[in-house]
Amino acid sequence: MVKECVHELGHIFGFVHCPNIECVMYFSNSLSDTDIKGKLSAVPAE
Ligand SMILES: [Zn+2]
Repeated sequence: MVKECVHELGHIFGFVHCPNIECVMYFSNSLSDTDIKGKLSAVPAE
């Protein structure tokens, strides 16, 4: 949640979205998108 707040503050200060999913300015539409970041490491790659 803190990351989302920092992200919004980033917009206030004029930052645009970052394509890096690890970046705080990465575009995430919802909390479920944020959850994916945590789940990815637990899902085996096929
Ligand atoms: Zn944004």
